[in-house]
Amino acid sequence: MSNQYQVQCDCAAVQLSMTGAPKVQAFCHCDDCRDLLQVPYHSVLAWDEKWVNITSGQEQVAEFQHPHKRMKRIFCKSCGEVLYNTNAMGWKLVSQLLLAKCNGGQLPAELASNAHFFYAKRNVDIEDGLPKRS
Ligand SMILES: [Zn+2]
Ligand SMILES: [Zn+2]
Repeated sequence: MSNQYQVQCDCAAVQLSMTGAPKVQAFCHCDDCRDLLQVPYHSVLAWDEKWVNITSGQEQVAEFQHPHKRMKRIFCKSCGEVLYNTNAMGWKLVSQLLLAKCNGGQLPAELASNAHFFYAKRNVDIEDGLPKRS
């Protein structure tokens, strides 16, 4: 039996489900994530595209193709919350913060980050025991 996760946007118009285990669960410090999402680093849960699905509110979903990066923001037209973004591989990246918010404030333990990616590009230093990759 594979794990199933649910999130919804702030106005609850859009619901999203994720199935199984992510391909990547990590903190990403790359310029692209920062530019796309205006965060100091992205708390990434990256799934193969087929495992992340809109289960309700498809008509409220809009997507924005970044003008020169192969990335998209997928968000709710009503409240503006980003539900996930895509990367150049077409993976769907859901924020750990959104999943935690929709899960009583706690990220399920099996989804915790196991590394920092592009740490050399960081805006902020992180003091934790996770491996750091350039
Ligand atoms: Zn919404
Ligand atoms: Zn990144």
